[in-house]
Amino acid sequence: MKVNSEQEMMHFGEKFARDLRLGEKSATVIELIGDVGAGKTTFTRGLAVGLGIKKPITSPSFTISKSYALPDGGRLIHYDFYRLPDPGLMVEDLQENLSDPNNIIIIEWGESITDVLPKKHYVIKIDYTDDGGREVKI
Ligand code: ADP
Ligand code: MG
Repeated sequence: MKVNSEQEMMHFGEKFARDLRLGEKSATVIELIGDVGAGKTTFTRGLAVGLGIKKPITSPSFTISKSYALPDGGRLIHYDFYRLPDPGLMVEDLQENLSDPNNIIIIEWGESITDVLPKKHYVIKIDYTDDGGREVKI
């Protein structure tokens, strides 16, 4: 699917939130794949709006994770494992959050922790296109 602007990416995130099928036994997981500046955090901002989160989403690049209360319980937990080849203790934090089916977990740069994720999870791939837009695959 072609996503031509930041605003379109936000809207895509919002729509994705409405269509999300929630996990029953463990958290709902969305893995985001794309280069720096592709729009992973922008998508997450739209997702948060669609989930009814009023707080602004900021990139967790330096803190690795940020967490926001969902209106009906559980939390949206946003991880960014960029340049973290050894996630160490963060894996335990992630596993604990994964065990709660009320949680929605969204992950940027998750290569080092994919073995911890439930086999069934959403993967969204964002690629740059020559015209400056983005190609998004689910
Ligand atoms: P990432 O988290 O993947 O590093 P960000 O979402 O932080 O990327 O940043 C994406 C940047 O690209 C933003 O500055 C945004 O304005 C810009 N941008 C331009 N076109 C698009 C698009 N089609 N989708 C998403 N972001 C876009
Ligand atoms: Mg980002």
